[in-house]
Amino acid sequence: MAQSRLEQEFDLFKDSYAQRAENLSVSEVRALFATVSRPEVVSLAGGMPDVSALDNELIRTAFESLMKNRSQFALQYGPGQGDAKLRGQILEIMALEGIQGTVENLMITTGSQHALELIADLFLDQGDVALVESPSYVGAVGIFRHKEAHIEHIYTDSDGISPEAVAEASDRMIADGKKVKLLYLVPNFANPSGVTLSEERRDKLIAVCKERGILIVEDNPYGLLYFDGAPPKALRARDADIVVYLGSFSKILSPGLRVGYVLAPPAIREKLILANESAILSPATFAQMLISEYLSICDWQKQISEYRSLYKTKRDAAIWALNEYLPGVETTKPAGGFFLWVSLPEGIDGKQMLPIAVEELVAYTPGTAFYGDGRGKEFIRVCFSHPTAENVKVGIQRLAKAIERSR
Ligand code: PMP
Repeated sequence: MAQSRLEQEFDLFKDSYAQRAENLSVSEVRALFATVSRPEVVSLAGGMPDVSALDNELIRTAFESLMKNRSQFALQYGPGQGDAKLRGQILEIMALEGIQGTVENLMITTGSQHALELIADLFLDQGDVALVESPSYVGAVGIFRHKEAHIEHIYTDSDGISPEAVAEASDRMIADGKKVKLLYLVPNFANPSGVTLSEERRDKLIAVCKERGILIVEDNPYGLLYFDGAPPKALRARDADIVVYLGSFSKILSPGLRVGYVLAPPAIREKLILANESAILSPATFAQMLISEYLSICDWQKQISEYRSLYKTKRDAAIWALNEYLPGVETTKPAGGFFLWVSLPEGIDGKQMLPIAVEELVAYTPGTAFYGDGRGKEFIRVCFSHPTAENVKVGIQRLAKAIERSR
């Protein structure tokens, strides 16, 4: 059959791509976007914050003050490492997690996704090993795959990733001649599992990685969104030399501003700044200064605590609905963040069930998205952060129907 014009256009440069472009494929989350934006579908899919809870008037005031007083700076290029005033304010946010950083070691990025990309680019050659949780954040799996790294999923349970399993896997792969370069983890209210790394495992994990010279990438966008009490002290607060810490305004404020940050060990700070400058010259000055202004004029700790109680209500709605409509189905019960990791009844495949779920007007993310090796069929990620609490319940009731139809 003759090729369509569109197919011909797609083919035009197919022999010119770099080899690693082979590893860029539509993520399962992105593939869902068109579906979930239909208003009649309850989306338990994308990990979006509920920005309708923000005080728009405060953001408008910050915007107007910025335009009135500092527009010449806000509309200009800025330092490659990021705005100095905002970096100082970020230190205050990190201090809430017991982290004592310095503005010299802190760099602003275009969301923490960008920080992850820079770190992966600095450290991972083809075949190098990136150790990750089971399951792991889809965006990290995607980046590591693009770098042609070997993604090694490590045993993880309700206390988080196992330090013993990290040690065992590293030693095995080092003995095989592989280079184990980094361990990537989301220690608090993880995406997608909702699990938190226990106090006991934190120091052990640091010791295991230190002994083997493995860089720890601590990705912590959800740590301040706890429901009951704060999670254990950050890994970066325990060791400043081998932990590179990633934070973000996406979940505690707004992802539309695209501002994240990295607190780097001194050993890698300069390379990271050079990589940032090489990639983007400077992070978006306007967005950084808007956040800085916002943090100056409002009680941001109160705003974060409002987010906390909102998400707690939604988590409770999700757990209630699972008990009510899907009794006996196993799920994690996160103490913060956005996600539940649900085990499907025997024999049901999360990816195959998705079209049925969409017919029932609910969307979720299949578990396979969170593995680099095809595992995860029997799980789904349910994100409760964006719909109203009532719609979270409706969504889970519809999910129950989809499961019933798939039996
Ligand atoms: N890490 C984790 C664990 C995430 O869940 C996300 C967003 N879903 C990111 C990083 C990227 O966030 P951003 O680039 O918006 O800061």
